[in-house]
Amino acid sequence: MNSTPNFSGEDLSSRESVPTATSRMDHPPGSNPPGLKTIAEREAALLAPWAFPSSATKGRRHSEPVHPYRGPFQRDRDRVLHSAGFRRLSGKMQVFTGDMGDYHRTRLTHTVEVASIARTLGRALGLNEDLIEALALLHDIGHPPFGHAGEDAIHAYLLGDGGFSHNQYALTLVEELEERYATFPGLNLSKEVLASQTTRVDKSAVGRPPILEAQLVDASDSVTYNSHDVDDAVKLGLIEFDALLELPLVKRAAGRVEQGLSPKRRRAAVVYQLIRMQVDSVLHTTMDQIKSAGWTDWTQPLDANFRIDLDPEMANEKAELQSFLYDKVYRHPQIVKVRKRAQDQIHEMLDFFKTNPTKMPERFQVRAESVGIVRSAADYIAGMTDRYCQQRYAELIGK
Ligand code: MG
Repeated sequence: MNSTPNFSGEDLSSRESVPTATSRMDHPPGSNPPGLKTIAEREAALLAPWAFPSSATKGRRHSEPVHPYRGPFQRDRDRVLHSAGFRRLSGKMQVFTGDMGDYHRTRLTHTVEVASIARTLGRALGLNEDLIEALALLHDIGHPPFGHAGEDAIHAYLLGDGGFSHNQYALTLVEELEERYATFPGLNLSKEVLASQTTRVDKSAVGRPPILEAQLVDASDSVTYNSHDVDDAVKLGLIEFDALLELPLVKRAAGRVEQGLSPKRRRAAVVYQLIRMQVDSVLHTTMDQIKSAGWTDWTQPLDANFRIDLDPEMANEKAELQSFLYDKVYRHPQIVKVRKRAQDQIHEMLDFFKTNPTKMPERFQVRAESVGIVRSAADYIAGMTDRYCQQRYAELIGK
C-alpha cells in the first residue's frame, strides 16, 4: 500500500485526518487539517532565518481564503504550472529552433532546468523552495515566439509606444491575460512573486536588491543557460568543442574530466562540471557571506545590499564564456538567418493586425480598445508558440 508521509516522515495513510474533500469542509479555512504540520511549523523546521517565510507574505491583490494545506508560494507555483502561458513554453525556442533537431533545450526544458538548479541551491542555503520554484517556473513565461529574436522584433516595432520586454510581458500574462478564475483576471499571484518578477524588468535599476530567493533564481538562470548553450551549440555543430577550451572556465571544467572519453560523453561530462563548479561557487560565496554577516532574518541581506553571485574569479571567467557564446553562437550565421526570418514575419503580422484587427481573437479586439491595437496585437503574437506563429503567418499572409 502506498504510504502518505508528512514532512516528518510519519505515515499518515491510515489516519482519518488525511485531507479529503469532506474533511476539508470540517475545519475552518486557513487552519490545517488535524494531523498535518502547518506551513509555519514546516518552515520553522526547514528554513534558515534568512529565508523569506510564507508568514511574511503581503498576500494577493484579490483576497482569497487561505488554503488548508498549501502555502501561498506552493499555490503560486501550481498556478504558474497550470497556466496556458507555461504550457506554451513547450513550443517556444530557447536559442535553437525546432527544425534544427530535437536534442537541444526548448524554453520549457530550460525553465525546468533552472527550477532544478535553483531548488538545489535553495535547499542547500535553507531558502524557501516553494517561492524559488514559483519564481523559476515564472521567469521566462513572457517569452514571445522565436526567443530573443522575437522579443527584439516586437520591441523595435513598439519602440515609440513603450517598447516590449519578455519580463514585462510575463507580468501582463499573469496579471491580465490568463483566464482561470471567475471573479478576477490573471493568476492573482502573491505580491512577493510579482515584485520579484518586476525587478527583472529593469535589471540595471539601482536600489534595494530583491529577496534572496529571487536573486538565486536569476543566478541559476545564468548558470543554466551558459552551460546548456555550450552543450547544444556543440551538439548542433555550431562551434567546435576544442575552440571552447580557449576559455578558462571551460578549460578548468575539462581538467576535472577523466581522459579517454568519447566526444559525446566528454561533452556531457564537461557540461556537468561547468554547472557543478558554478553551483558550488554560488553556494560557497553566499554561505561565506551569510556566516560572516550573521543575518537573523530575511530583511538583513537586503538592507546590506547583498547580491548573490559567483566568486569574482569565476564571475570573470563566466563573462568570457558569455561573450564567446554571444559572438560565436547567438550571432552564428544560422541563428542570424532565423532571427531575420522571425523579425520579418512578426513585423508583417503586426502590420496585418493593425489594419485587420478582426482577424485577432475577440478578446484581443476588445483589449485593443483599452491598450491600443498595436499593443494588443503584440500581446496576441507574444503569447504564440513558434509553430502557431508560423501557422498564423502562413494563413494570414500566405508566404
Ligand atoms: Mg531563462
